[in-house]
Amino acid sequence: MPDAVKWEPTACPVCRCADAGEFLRAPGDDGTEYRLARCRACELVFLDPRPTEDTVGLLYTEDYPQYRGAKLKTGPLRRLRAKLFGHRERSLADRIPVVPGGALLDYGCGAGQFVAQMRDRGWNAFGMDFSPHAVVAAREQYGVRAVCGTLPHTEVPPNSLDALTLRMVLEHVHDPAALLRHALVALKPGGALCVAVPNLAAWGFGAFGKAWFPLRLPWHLSHFTPDTLARTVRASGFEVETIATKGHTNWTGFSVRRARELNPKWWTPFARVRLVRSALSKWTERRGAGDELCLLARKPLRAALEVPTRRAA
Ligand SMILES: [Zn+2]
Repeated sequence: MPDAVKWEPTACPVCRCADAGEFLRAPGDDGTEYRLARCRACELVFLDPRPTEDTVGLLYTEDYPQYRGAKLKTGPLRRLRAKLFGHRERSLADRIPVVPGGALLDYGCGAGQFVAQMRDRGWNAFGMDFSPHAVVAAREQYGVRAVCGTLPHTEVPPNSLDALTLRMVLEHVHDPAALLRHALVALKPGGALCVAVPNLAAWGFGAFGKAWFPLRLPWHLSHFTPDTLARTVRASGFEVETIATKGHTNWTGFSVRRARELNPKWWTPFARVRLVRSALSKWTERRGAGDELCLLARKPLRAALEVPTRRAA
């Protein structure tokens, strides 16, 4: 195992085109400045240079936030707020029509909270994560089935899944198109793919720029817009059904904090009030410019016919 992160220049991670222009230079959480490039062929924005695939794991230490199980947010205060302000949170889980007993894989399951949520909705849900810390956390904290590794995986035969979720995963991987192709193989014909990534076309990125929290440098290698995400998913063989955006009150708060750190003159007192940030994130969501993109796609039914048949000798 290497002991330091190594960096490599890269072509576009999606279309492999080597022609890209500088898009933005922005500081990461560690204060280092990172460079984002935009592909001139497919318009994907990506980190360049980026950590090599064999050393990127060093960025995911045990205290990486996704590996700590957050509490399920269903308390009475949250319900009361939803009632008062009339904006019941539409979570990703609501977007996937339940197939009772259907096999659902949450790829990149982190501490397993979402797997537990989907199990409680009637799915035969399980998780997968490349981090052994995450898999142990998922089993211990939520009692869910979780396997360590990546796709393709011996415990996920081809055409076996009714649904596959990639929540905040695609932006982390070196080859998003390859992961989507493996997802296509693992799903049954007609099976659902649900992808959630940060939305580079969000109002928040326009307003906060390099202080926009979901940039998450250097962990996020690709930065999608609705166009580049839909194109990538379609090119991998899926039929895209819907794309929506979701606002995140917390992300807005983190973005405000970062903007003030980078430029102390950037000070809007109103943005310190949580209620304002909440209203702001709902407003961006209604305009289709929320911080998160949620895409629902299906494996085409005809894909079943493309399985090679053995000819009689
Ligand atoms: Zn490209």
